[in-house]
Amino acid sequence: MKYEVVIVGGGPAGIFAALTLADLGIQNVVLLERGKDIGERNRLDADDMLCGWGGAGAYSDGKLTLSREVGGYLGEFLNTKAFYDLLNETDQVYVRHGAPDRLFGDISPAVEALAERASLAGLEYIPTRIRHIGTENCQAILARMHDSLTGKVDIRTGCAVQTILADGGKVKGVKLADGTVLESRFVIVAPGRSGAQWMKETAESLNIKTKTSPVDIGVRVELPATVLKEITDISYESKLIYYSKTFDDKVRTFCMNPYGEVVTEKIAGLVTVNGHSYATKKSDNTNFAILVSSSFTEPFDDPIAYGRYIAQLANLLGGGVIMQRLGDLLAGRRSTRERISKCLTRPTLPQATPGDLSFVFPYRHLLNIIEMLQAMEKLAPGVYSHQTLLYGVEVKFYSNRIEVTPDLETKIRNLFAIGDGAGITRGLLQSSASGILAARAVARRLNQ
Ligand SMILES: Cc1cc2nc3c(=O)[nH]c(=O)nc-3n(C[C@H](O)[C@H](O)[C@H](O)COP(=O)(O)OP(=O)(O)OC[C@H]3O[C@@H](n4cnc5c(N)ncnc54)[C@H](O)[C@@H]3O)c2cc1C
Repeated sequence: MKYEVVIVGGGPAGIFAALTLADLGIQNVVLLERGKDIGERNRLDADDMLCGWGGAGAYSDGKLTLSREVGGYLGEFLNTKAFYDLLNETDQVYVRHGAPDRLFGDISPAVEALAERASLAGLEYIPTRIRHIGTENCQAILARMHDSLTGKVDIRTGCAVQTILADGGKVKGVKLADGTVLESRFVIVAPGRSGAQWMKETAESLNIKTKTSPVDIGVRVELPATVLKEITDISYESKLIYYSKTFDDKVRTFCMNPYGEVVTEKIAGLVTVNGHSYATKKSDNTNFAILVSSSFTEPFDDPIAYGRYIAQLANLLGGGVIMQRLGDLLAGRRSTRERISKCLTRPTLPQATPGDLSFVFPYRHLLNIIEMLQAMEKLAPGVYSHQTLLYGVEVKFYSNRIEVTPDLETKIRNLFAIGDGAGITRGLLQSSASGILAARAVARRLNQ
């Protein structure tokens, strides 16, 4: 079978590549997704959580972050104006498919005052404009995008690509897991973080250079929403950076979910923690991650193995995610069910095992996290309370960065690598934008 374009992966990056090709009138395009269609996915099934139509975006919190500093490296390929024009355009596609109108974090006197207060607390505040879709709306929006493509792009779910075929430095098509060969002039690969290992092996087999990315390790913090209300009302999500006193390490907040829920995540046999929030259903708590980046040089340069090791330790000791009151951690004792039952922060992940995170984290990470909480206390009294809950381990494995041109083309002609799986992006909006960028480059060549 011969196609003009094969897209591998039906996450935001692949979907936006397909939408763009369809808008530009490119025909004979197929999108191959190894998971299920959106309506058939089940969030509680570990296989469905990250795979299927919508990719990791389907059960995400749906925060669209319009920022150069957050969400990936796409800004390295474009000048500032072109970058923000592309992000705004991408954002508007979400709005046309049903994302809410409200944008948080526009520069205002309140945002500027927040940045000043943060700096007095020794924290750098990164102003970010955010549109919040909410988990329950993500699936509806992704389903509408599927409808927009009906009749324009051939969409095949349950269809895993095994090999990218190339000859003489030029892409030729793909081979599916069942052995079928699909010939194609162009291939856009968008396998996401769940396909990172496959992407790495594919790059190696095609002699495409890759670079390891650091691993981010830390905890999910949960506290009563009132503690951060003043801040989350202004900016929804505050991106705060802290350089720790003792180690001078960069420590940052990540993925803040006002009135949200803490959840478990299964990645490659590990149980880790994450968080999200709904647009309408509210809990009494806010959660966010505190993460510390770790990279290595020699003789060890395998940040993913290091992150896995720490997460495995938590799984070994707690049978999954461990939860601890900050007060217990500081007092040098484990949390127990009884102590948690006295905690004023009611856990939204009560299934987590009460335990002792000091058995899990290296001294360096634990101290970085504690110092960050102390700094945040100056910005929002109540953060460094003994009632604050910590869940571990939260770990972010980033895909190896694939070497690509500003059009996101690899050294194999007509083979493009986009989204989180190519290590170029780390969030919904930039991954979607990377799909637009690659699809436009493909369309330009097809129309030449
Ligand atoms: C719980 C959670 C909350 C999140 N919240 C946010 C948020 O609020 N804001 C934000 O910006 N980001 C958030 N993210 C991250 C966001 O979901 C990702 O950045 C985004 O989905 C990346 O898009 P992608 O298309 O590159 O990859 P993915 O969404 O991972 O999609 C890749 C797809 O490719 C498929 N695939 C892989 N290999 C193959 C193959 N060989 N053949 C065929 N198909 C294949 C996979 O099955 C998958 O469906 C969240 C993620 C999670 C898990």
